[in-house]
Order: sequence, then structure tokens, then C-alpha cells
Amino acid sequence: MRKDFLVFGSPLIEQPEIDEVVDSLKSGWLGTGPKVKKFEEMFSDYKSIKHSVAVNSCTAALHLAMRVIGVKPGDEVIVPTMTFAATANAAIHAGGTPVFADCEKGTMNLDPVDLEKKITKKTKAVIPVHFAGRPCNMDAIMAIAKKHNLKVIEDCAHAIESEYHGEKTGTFGDVGCFSFYVTKNIITGEGGMAITNNDEYAGKIKTLALHGMSKDAWKRFSDEGYKHYQVVDSGHKYNMMDIQAAMGIHQLGRIDRYWKRREEIWNRYNEAFKDLPVFLPASVEPNTRHAYHLYTLLIDLDRAGITRDQFLDEMTKRNMGVGVHYIALHLHPFYQEKFGYRKGDFPNAEWISDRTVSLPLSPKLTDEDVNDVILATKKILKRA
Ligand SMILES: *Cc1c(COP(=O)(O)O)cnc(C)c1O
Repeated sequence: MRKDFLVFGSPLIEQPEIDEVVDSLKSGWLGTGPKVKKFEEMFSDYKSIKHSVAVNSCTAALHLAMRVIGVKPGDEVIVPTMTFAATANAAIHAGGTPVFADCEKGTMNLDPVDLEKKITKKTKAVIPVHFAGRPCNMDAIMAIAKKHNLKVIEDCAHAIESEYHGEKTGTFGDVGCFSFYVTKNIITGEGGMAITNNDEYAGKIKTLALHGMSKDAWKRFSDEGYKHYQVVDSGHKYNMMDIQAAMGIHQLGRIDRYWKRREEIWNRYNEAFKDLPVFLPASVEPNTRHAYHLYTLLIDLDRAGITRDQFLDEMTKRNMGVGVHYIALHLHPFYQEKFGYRKGDFPNAEWISDRTVSLPLSPKLTDEDVNDVILATKKILKRA
């Protein structure tokens, strides 16, 4: 058994970002500045998009996206129930109402058939989540959005590297939202990005991210001389700091190396677990790129003889960090009490909620770590 606890989702931090953060600290320019600008330019380049606006989380990016597309009280926003709370909460923060839709059992992504069923006269937008890094069926989702005149905000928190039919995730809809939270594919501690080809949206997101102050207000204390700003909207405090961008710049430079390492680990897991009483992640669809953000094993309750929660406990006892992505949102008390959802509403998402467990999948993992995870998983599931 392992001596030390293997932390789930622990990021790989290397010397260049440590030096860059120290450089920011020594320069005294900690807040939004030249490093944020550089990170935004690098990101636009990486995603082949016109505008990237760095913010302090993906949640902030989603909220601002809701605001710029004009979500207001009475508007409905369709989100998959199989996602993190931030996706639905963004709609609520903007005054809208999240309406849940089920996911597909195999891909765990938003089911286009159920999406279309949930559309009403009040539906303003849909937020597809590229779950675990697997791109959604964007052909179907974009066709439905076009037919019903819906805005599309992509939650790309898992999906920086993902591509669908040759196009990059986050570039299909009106705004794409990304996360650089510590467990994500590249990290800035806390951090996010909103990307768009729409000039008006980009300008508004930038303004709303910094108190609603007119463009480039962050420069007001620079050596270019004091500049007056105007408050043009009721904005938020969502700007990214240079200390965060200092990490992002170097992490983004290594994004392909990290992706390859996660792909390698992914394939080793698939090979190792194929005879266990589990369902492996669905294979990657042709002409798509999976970002390999989460390796989600589904415990086959009929054959395994133990529950998912027992598996979690057994792993933790063996010093293995594990995650659950996710218990579907409609099973949480807030959404039940506020919107009247109940168990039974979304069978596919519930089936996954009962069985899913995420195993460590960080580029920080050594081959030994991966062996440890495999051994522990096999021991627990074979014994049963
Ligand atoms: C992590 C995550 C978010 C929120 O990202 P933050 O940067 O932590 O705000 C949103 N949606 C999904 C699907 C996530 O996994």
C-alpha cells in the first residue's frame, strides 16, 4: 500500500511559472496587467478566435456570458443536469431560470433529443458542457439552436484541447467559457477565460469584468499617465491578476505535452480495467479530439457486489484520492426546493450519478502512481 496520499487532481507546477510569479511579485504589478494581456493573446491564438478575456474563474465567465447575451428574469436557460453547479448557477446569477435536460448514457454529454423537448417560448439559451473533455454533438446542438433562435454558451471547463469535426470547442457558440482552477487541464490557481468572435460581446465582457468601468481601466495607474475612467454599467470584480496569468502563460505552452501524458494514462487504465465489473468511458468518436480531463469509471452495480460509495471508501483507505463527477444537479436540495425537480426526472444522469467515480488523471502522476491506482482498483473490484 502507498505511504503518502495521492491527491486527486493535483496540478503539475514547473519552475518557469514559479519564476514568473516571483517576477510579478518583485515588479510590484500584481493585478491585471501585461501578463494577462499576453495570456489572452496566447489563448486566442491557441483557440483560433478573435477575442479572449481573462477572468478570475469559469463561473465568472459563464455569468458574464449570460449577461452579454441578455438573460433576464423570466428567461430560461437549458443546462444538462449532469454538470457542476456553476453551469446552472450562472443562469440564476443573471436572473434567469435554469431548465435541466438529461445526458446521453454513453457520452455523458447533453442529449440533443431531450434538449429539444425542453425548449419553450421562454428559452433564451443553452449551455452545452463538453463533459470530461469529450466534445458534445455540436452539429445537432447548433442546428437545434438555430431552428429555435437560441444563444449557445459552451461550458469548456473540461475541454480546453477538445475539437469536434475539425473545429475547436468554445468557438461554436456565442461565447466559450474555460477554467484554470487547480484541478483543470492547465491551471492558474483560480482563473477563467471567455472567448468569442463577437466584438460587442468581447467589449462588454471586458467592461463587466472590471466594475463596469470603460475599456482598459486597468491601465489607469500605469506610466502612461493617469487616465480617467467612466462607469458605464453595473459590473463585477471578475478580472484576472498578473500573478495568475504568470502561471497560465507557461502552462499553456505545455498544453500538448500534458495532454499526451493524460492520453497515455487513459489508455493504460482502459487496458487494465477491461475485465473488471465496470463500464469504461465510451471510446473517442471519430473526427473529434477528447481533452482527457476526467477518467470516469462506472461501477457495474449488478456485477461488482459493492456500491460506488463503498469503492470510494476503499480507495481512500488505500491512500488513493478519487472524485465524483457528478451527482446530477436535480438531485441536490437547492434545485429540488427551488424548481421542483425530483429523483426520477432524468434517468440517464441518475444512472451515472449512482455509478461514476473519477480516478486520478494528472500529468503529475508518475508511472508508479498510475500502477498504484490500477492495483488498488483491481484489488477492490476483483475481491468482490
Ligand atoms: C470547474 C467547472 C466550472 C467552474 O470553474 P471555476 O473556474 O472553478 O469557476 C464550471 N463548469 C464545469 C463543468 C466545471 O467542471
